[in-house]
Amino acid sequence: MPEKKKTKAKAEERITEEIKETPKQPPYKVLFLASECVPFVKTGGLADVIGALPKELKRQGVDVRVMIPLYSAIGPKYREQMTRICEFYVKLGWRSQYCGILTMEYQGVPVYFIDNEYYFGRGYIYGQCNSDEGERFAFFSKAALEAMPHIGFFPDVLHAHDWQAAMSIALLRMQYGRSQDYRRIRTVYTIHNLKYQGVFNWPFMDELLSIGPEHFTGESLEYYGDINFTKGALVYSDAITTVSPTYAREIQGPEYGETLDGVLRWRSRDIYGIMNGIDESLFDPATDKAIYANYSIDDMSGKEKCKESLRTEFWLDKDDSPIVGIVTRFTDQKGLDLIEYAMAALMEKGVQLAVLGSGDARYEHLFSWASWRYGGRIAARYSYDTALANRIYAGSDMFLMPSRFEPCGLSQLIALRYGTLPIVRETGGLKDSITPYNKFTGEGLGFTFRQYNHIDMLGAVDRAIEAYRQPDIWKGLMRNAMSAHFTWEKSAGKYIELYERLSER
Ligand code: ADP
Repeated sequence: MPEKKKTKAKAEERITEEIKETPKQPPYKVLFLASECVPFVKTGGLADVIGALPKELKRQGVDVRVMIPLYSAIGPKYREQMTRICEFYVKLGWRSQYCGILTMEYQGVPVYFIDNEYYFGRGYIYGQCNSDEGERFAFFSKAALEAMPHIGFFPDVLHAHDWQAAMSIALLRMQYGRSQDYRRIRTVYTIHNLKYQGVFNWPFMDELLSIGPEHFTGESLEYYGDINFTKGALVYSDAITTVSPTYAREIQGPEYGETLDGVLRWRSRDIYGIMNGIDESLFDPATDKAIYANYSIDDMSGKEKCKESLRTEFWLDKDDSPIVGIVTRFTDQKGLDLIEYAMAALMEKGVQLAVLGSGDARYEHLFSWASWRYGGRIAARYSYDTALANRIYAGSDMFLMPSRFEPCGLSQLIALRYGTLPIVRETGGLKDSITPYNKFTGEGLGFTFRQYNHIDMLGAVDRAIEAYRQPDIWKGLMRNAMSAHFTWEKSAGKYIELYERLSER
């Protein structure tokens, strides 16, 4: 091709590429406000979501930025990459509190860190509810709003997550209406877990945030004589989302509504259930450096090695029993009392249990006792260890998650990715993600039960063992699991649709 034509063709190619890359939606500006974010700080699934969803939104054309507190747990590895961009003071009642804003880009997404040594320079992420938890996160919410002119970023949508960020939405509507920049911001509040609401003493919060008695009513922030941060966001946000369609329905009834079901029914028209995904690049058995051997859907031999090594690491008997993995926070939510009732029966069924968890001492005692009583059949570790978690996901055959309630649940999605079949209770996101195995068609992603009792749970374990004892069927199920792909692509699209809908209002 002559030189001139070649250049023209190249230019045309570039233009088509540019058109392809130009997002279909207008470039929304969205600010995510949350209390944790992978890889900086993580105590649960919230951090996974805040680490992954913005990346996908960005890929789909949204100008999204994330803001989290600068805890002392965020180490030098990241601090060295941050730049301090501004400093100002936040008025909290009679106090004037320092606020520094540091920033860095992580995988293309700008992340802002709110720096205040007094509130966040502590040896923990979350303290006890009766400590100054309310003050810490009231500061966080207000500082985020105050930061906007300093960082030169007024978002189209303020997207706040869980109670720690909830007051940003209430304060925005109650106190920042005079400025056009603030008034035009639309708000989305995402419930990751309705159990934790941020309920604090009213007179103290009233003084701290200068709220005023006109907002201490049933239609606003008042909650049985206290202030409830989550209720504030539910009342004042433009849209409410939660992390699975089933949980979005469940929380509008008394059983799962955690006493806020009335408010949620009142906001029913503005509630959306959008299923979480997982970052498949972080949880990939083909590349994961934390597991004993890599494997993929086309070559599963590494999974056997992972199983053997997990047995060695956990001192489990080397036999042909299926290994059931559990990776969880130790709280009542996760259905651990069902496991307690079912422990002896589980052992009789000949499964082995590999447990990793931290939290409530009651459950540490349970698993310590069980490890002593059933040596070689059960072993547990009590820590927060993401590498060990992955070794359990990879080395187990089944993953037990009999939650009392589960907004979405990421652990069952991670288990699928590693070819480990979930045994779950049909609630919230567990119901939406794990279609039960159908022995007539061979379809399904796991084993499920509905009622919250250990007999039904044991029934699901029985069905899992029965399938496990038929290698061809089990291989098919592992393939189903590994090809399920709960990625962020579709869910991010739904958030974008929601942002669009709000901006049209
Ligand atoms: P929740 O957010 O209610 O704790 P999810 O299933 O949504 O439950 O997310 C839990 C996340 O935290 C998963 O990524 C899981 O692997 C991880 N996790 C839970 N407990 C531990 C632990 N003890 N060590 C390491 N990772 C853990």
